[in-house]
Amino acid sequence: MAETVDAAGARATLEAKAARLRESIGEPIEGPGQMTYGSQAAAATHVFEQQRDLALRDHERAQLALVIDALAQLDDGTYGTCRSCGRAIAPARLEAIPWAASCIDCARHSPR
Ligand SMILES: [Zn+2]
Repeated sequence: MAETVDAAGARATLEAKAARLRESIGEPIEGPGQMTYGSQAAAATHVFEQQRDLALRDHERAQLALVIDALAQLDDGTYGTCRSCGRAIAPARLEAIPWAASCIDCARHSPR
């Protein structure tokens, strides 16, 4: 089998992923001041959960940006090309992570 990327399949996956992320990001995170706490510990737990939600949301925003970039690459025909070195990203990697912006070698060398 030829090592080609299934562009239509990738687009469907990316669009579904983008919709899911947008929905998740659109959900309001409960702010402080709307609840009364039974104890300091309950308040601390709530703050912790809120910060965890915000961190998760940052992660989702970053991922959504990658998904949107990948969809733009599908449009201009550069999908599957590593943005760091310009070489083709292995189809197996794109299958696992359709929004991958770099090949496995570059991903390994950069924390992002
Ligand atoms: Zn690369």
